[in-house]
Amino acid sequence: MTPSTPKHLSSETIDLLSLAALEPAQARSARAHIDSCSQCQAEWQTLQEDKARFEQFVLPRTLPKIEATLAPVPWTTQLTQKWKLLIPAASLAGVAVLALVLTPQATDTPAYVGVKGPSVPTFDVVAQRPSGGQFTVTVRTPLKPKDRIRFVVDPATANYLMIASQDAAGVFTVFYPYGGQQSAAVRRGEVPGSIELDATVGPETLVAVFSLAPVTAQTVKNALTANPTAPRVENAHVLLLPVMKESL
Ligand SMILES: [Zn+2]
Repeated sequence: MTPSTPKHLSSETIDLLSLAALEPAQARSARAHIDSCSQCQAEWQTLQEDKARFEQFVLPRTLPKIEATLAPVPWTTQLTQKWKLLIPAASLAGVAVLALVLTPQATDTPAYVGVKGPSVPTFDVVAQRPSGGQFTVTVRTPLKPKDRIRFVVDPATANYLMIASQDAAGVFTVFYPYGGQQSAAVRRGEVPGSIELDATVGPETLVAVFSLAPVTAQTVKNALTANPTAPRVENAHVLLLPVMKESL
């Protein structure tokens, strides 16, 4: 038997392998190739490193392509039958992601069962005072005019973020993207830019809205007006941080 030159695995094959949707012989051969090919191994590992990313982005992208690509293949029928089983599973993964962002903030520890396990968006606020000193802002941490605040977030499975504030005078300001009309793409880590607090004193609410698609500033403002302590934004995960601004 002459071994043929191993061809690189197609991304479809890698996707199917990841979904355990290849026939046993094909799965064995694909795994053998991955073991012996650094390029395909890298592609495989990238997929495995973040299953959430896979299910959220790669699967929806790949599914139609796989179905189209495989049409002329002899084992199409069998594969289609597998996909009929897999597609509901994939849809369920989508539902899990949606459920994750739809879960209201009624409890301290929402029962997240998304593709990333217990991972939920987080929102941390760090303040820098002109007189010196940096500190983490927690609920009711006194802030003062001219403090500069910045934000560190983990969006979990969300893609977009809006950070805004509603101050004691009822003024709604979008901090990220600064002055924006809708939320912007976000990555884990420090949000670009910092905000110098103005002279308005009294209670102020910082709100972070994580979502899969952009939401408008008006939507967030309306949600805060309707329910200042537990605003709800459709398809979004809302975190509130009530703070107190004291005079200088
Ligand atoms: Zn290869």
